[in-house]
Amino acid sequence: MIRQFELLERVKAYDPNADEAGINAAYVFAMKMHGSQKRASGDPYFSHPIEVAGILTAYRVDSATIETALLHDTIEDTPASLADIQSHFGEDVAQLVDGVTKLTRIEFQSDRDKQAENFRKLVLAMSEDIRVLLVKLADRLHNMRTLHYIKKEEKRRRIALETMEIYAPLAERIGMQEIKTELEDLAFEQLNPEARRAVVKRLETLRALGGELVPKIIEEVSGVLAEGGIEAEVSGREKTPYSIWRKMQKYDVGFEQLSDIMAFRIIVASTEDCYKVLGVAHNAYRVVPGRFKDYISMPKPNGYQSLHTGVFGPHNQRIELQVRTAEMHDIAEFGVAAHWNYKQGGVASDGKQYRWLRELLDILEHAADPEEVLEHSKMEMFQDQVFCFTPRGDLINLPRRATPVDFAYAVHSEVGDHCVGAKINGKMMPLRTELKNGDQVEVVTSKAQSPNPTWERFVVTGKARARIRRFVRLKEREEYAKLGQSILKRCFKEADYSLTDKGVNGVLKKFDVGAIEDLYVEVGLGNLTGRAVLEAIYPRAKRKAENDDDGTVIPLTKARSGRGAKGGGGVPIHGLIPGMAMHFAGCCHALPGDRIVGIVTTGRGVTVHTIDCDTLRDYGDQPERWLDLSWDKDEAANELHVGRVYVTVANSPGSLGDLSTMIAKNEGNISNLKIVNRTIDFFDMLIDIEVRDVKHLTDIIAALRASPSVNSIDRAKG
Ligand code: MN
Repeated sequence: MIRQFELLERVKAYDPNADEAGINAAYVFAMKMHGSQKRASGDPYFSHPIEVAGILTAYRVDSATIETALLHDTIEDTPASLADIQSHFGEDVAQLVDGVTKLTRIEFQSDRDKQAENFRKLVLAMSEDIRVLLVKLADRLHNMRTLHYIKKEEKRRRIALETMEIYAPLAERIGMQEIKTELEDLAFEQLNPEARRAVVKRLETLRALGGELVPKIIEEVSGVLAEGGIEAEVSGREKTPYSIWRKMQKYDVGFEQLSDIMAFRIIVASTEDCYKVLGVAHNAYRVVPGRFKDYISMPKPNGYQSLHTGVFGPHNQRIELQVRTAEMHDIAEFGVAAHWNYKQGGVASDGKQYRWLRELLDILEHAADPEEVLEHSKMEMFQDQVFCFTPRGDLINLPRRATPVDFAYAVHSEVGDHCVGAKINGKMMPLRTELKNGDQVEVVTSKAQSPNPTWERFVVTGKARARIRRFVRLKEREEYAKLGQSILKRCFKEADYSLTDKGVNGVLKKFDVGAIEDLYVEVGLGNLTGRAVLEAIYPRAKRKAENDDDGTVIPLTKARSGRGAKGGGGVPIHGLIPGMAMHFAGCCHALPGDRIVGIVTTGRGVTVHTIDCDTLRDYGDQPERWLDLSWDKDEAANELHVGRVYVTVANSPGSLGDLSTMIAKNEGNISNLKIVNRTIDFFDMLIDIEVRDVKHLTDIIAALRASPSVNSIDRAKG
């Protein structure tokens, strides 16, 4: 068992600024809490967390990680609570211990059927902070080293299987080759003891035949390299029984053909030297075909770089050579810990902390190589998810097919509401782009931006959809209210009344609405006419004449025969029958400048249509009812006329506003508006506009046509 001061010395050897007091306190706290608990081996339980901390010192982890290692079983196995840890060791350590505890609980629930699910939770849990995973791997390593003390075979087997399928691949993924190799071999011993024994025995036989080959080969290879003028450090080892066995299985070869029993590491000063070593070695020794791999120009996903080659070595023994620089070696040994920036409290400032996870996920997308260790683990469960990263390296977990808009809303509602664009992996991309695993997403926001209803078509998260809908509803309401208010104002003004809140308040109940704004919305939507509101507030404002349903009636008293008298309320049309009432048909809304005809209807007088109105077809066989009419330009100029347009507008915030602004700018007034059809993308509306004449309306139509919100616009006919 490592003593308190030994542990501290190890940490201080690589981190002179280590939190000595914190580590000491954790040591004492854990020892007290575990008290007299014993391990299966009979050792005091406390020996376990200390060993775990000891393993981690080899990876130069920060003080918080060492403290976490010491405390990692206190919540699960002792009376200590998370709150205790927090008050004694602070938020950072408490969160790490909590993370490890959660992983431990997953392990306890584990059974074969649930493993996939567990694994997913595991990855998610650890992705919060990679230090949690480091502690968990060291914990697992120590448990595997002491696995044989566990009496129940079934339990040993379960732990070994879990190690093989989950922890070893994870260790490799984060580049911790040593831990991975040892975990695998320990699990192999449990899972297939016969196979392992056979491999070990074979190794022993070989050793007996050739003596200790490793040191001999090191010496020879060093000599060859020195002759080639290369300064190198050569080391060598036998491969583990598990890796030998796996290669035998994979290549279906016998022991003698394996070039993987011994591996030699050659460390040189530069990348250039790596390739020089290759030249020298291939010159000196016969090459084993098909064994060369250039991981320098094509690094492994976990960052591993080296040249690998197989040669028939000095004693005609197949050996593997791994050639790399010192820096590459550091990464090969320490993996993610090599990037560890303990000076900044363990949080890498460049977001690289998660690079391995990004790459892990990238692999999941593209893995096809059977050698991929990941094939051992259950990765399918990731297929319904994508993992993306903020520029700071925070992980955002989204459903598949998610877009930058989903991402933005997942980061924060405000970010979503104001997003205008997104950089994916540094490149500006459309908001509808489907995100891929490992994408780094930077959301570009603008205060002026608001949610766009078209987003709803491509977002996949409920949160994004709900926010967009809510916003669109609010915005629409606002617009309808504005529109309704302006229709009312116009209507009241014409009748010489003024629109007051007080007046409107008095009739809210009558129209069954709660607030003034609600009433405006009803008018804006066309569910209520301005006239109806006016007459409700001022019953005396009732019209003197019968209403036509289009509200554009010319009073009977004004109708005159022949050429209308100049000025003062004359009829703007020539050709009417004396004494007969005249009104404009609601179907075509004839305007001065239009060619017009009248249709005589018994009891209703003359209805004026445009000559191209569809309704006229109904009277084709009754020529006696047709009147040839024309406009009195001067009279017509005295008043405004209502033209009706059929318009299709994009269903997006602002488009109704654009529409009414555009009409007002062109001196038209909206007197009525009705939505006749509505889809996700578009509104179809009938709008009545007060204009001087047909030219005026044509000008307005032309202006609206030019507006991006307007899809199509035409005069309504029939
Ligand atoms: Mn433990």
